[in-house]
Amino acid sequence: MIKISISERLKEKYKEYFNKYKNETDTYIKIKEELTKVAKNCEEMKNFVRYFCKDNKLKSGYDNKKIEDILLGKIEDFNRIIKEMEPRIPNKNKKVKYNGKEIKVSEVIFKVFNYTEFSKIHKFGYTFADEMKVDVCPYCNRQYTFTVKVKGKTVRPQFDHYYPKGLYPYLAVSLYNLVPCCSICNQSKGEFNTKDKHIFYPYEDDGGKKFKFQTKPQDDDFDYFMGLGDKFNIELIPNEGVENKKEIQAIIDNLEDAFKLKSLYNKHKEYVIHIIRNSIVNNESRIEELWSNYPEIFDSKQEIIEAIFMNYIYPKDWGKRPLAKLTHDICKEFGIISK
Ligand SMILES: [Zn+2]
Repeated sequence: MIKISISERLKEKYKEYFNKYKNETDTYIKIKEELTKVAKNCEEMKNFVRYFCKDNKLKSGYDNKKIEDILLGKIEDFNRIIKEMEPRIPNKNKKVKYNGKEIKVSEVIFKVFNYTEFSKIHKFGYTFADEMKVDVCPYCNRQYTFTVKVKGKTVRPQFDHYYPKGLYPYLAVSLYNLVPCCSICNQSKGEFNTKDKHIFYPYEDDGGKKFKFQTKPQDDDFDYFMGLGDKFNIELIPNEGVENKKEIQAIIDNLEDAFKLKSLYNKHKEYVIHIIRNSIVNNESRIEELWSNYPEIFDSKQEIIEAIFMNYIYPKDWGKRPLAKLTHDICKEFGIISK
C-alpha cells in the first residue's frame, strides 16, 4: 500500500555478504561455491546449475549477470527468471539424491540461496531493517515496525518474501523480494502466490494512491454522518481517475485474500467515528480560528489538521504513522481536506 525504497549503501552492503573473501576480486563467490557443490553432489540438479553458467555449459564458468539479476533484480527480472527457471525444476517437492542422501529439490536450492544463514550471519535482518527505516508496515499501514537494539537484543520488522520462497526458492535471498512488514501481514500472507494474484509491490507501486477507503451506510441509515452510531461499513474502492479500475479492483480483492485487509479495516470503525466527530466539531471556521489564534505554534493549516486528527494527512507522510492513509481518505470524504 505504501511505497518503500532501498539505499545504494545497503545494496553495496548486501553484495559484500555474497563475496565471501574480502580480498577476492571475484564477485558472488559464495553463491558460486554453493552452485559448484550442487553440480558435484546432485546429478538431477545440474540443469538448475547450468542456468547460471555461460552458454548454459558447466565448464564455461558462471555468468555474473545471471546471479546479479537474481540477487538484485526487481519484479520484472523475477518474472523473467521464473519463466526461464520453472521448466528446469518442475517439481520442488520431488526428492533427489544429494551426496547419497534423499532431499527435496527446494532444499537443494536453499543450499545456494540460503535465507536462514543469510538472516543469521552478520545479523543481516537487523542491519537491513535498521537502514531501511520502514517505521510502519507497507502492506497494511496499520502497525508500527520500528527497529531497536537494546542490550544486544533486537526488535525489528519481519521480512516477507513477496514471491513466496516455498514456491520460488531461488528468490529466497533476492533483495527486492524481501519486504519489511508487520508480523500479522507476514503470517497472514504466507504462501499466497502474488505471481498469479497481484497485490501492490511495495518497491514500485504507490498502491495507496490507487484506491481509497470510503464509508458506506448500512440500511440507508446516515446517522453516522452526524457523528451518531456505527451503522456503516468501510469499503475499499478504486480511486477516481485511475485508468484501470478493473485491475485495481482485482488487487483490492487479492489484498483481502492475502491480508484480510478490508475485514481488518472494518475493525477500525471506532477510529473512523472519532474522525467523523472531530470533523463536525473542528469545521473550517474552527480551523481558521486556531490558525489566527496560534500562529506561533502552527506553520500551516495542514499542521493544525494533523494536530486535530493526530495523524499525518498527505501521501508523502503515510509511512510515518499507522492509519495515516485511512485518516487522509476519511478526512477527504468528510470535507476536511480537498486533495
Ligand atoms: Zn502489516
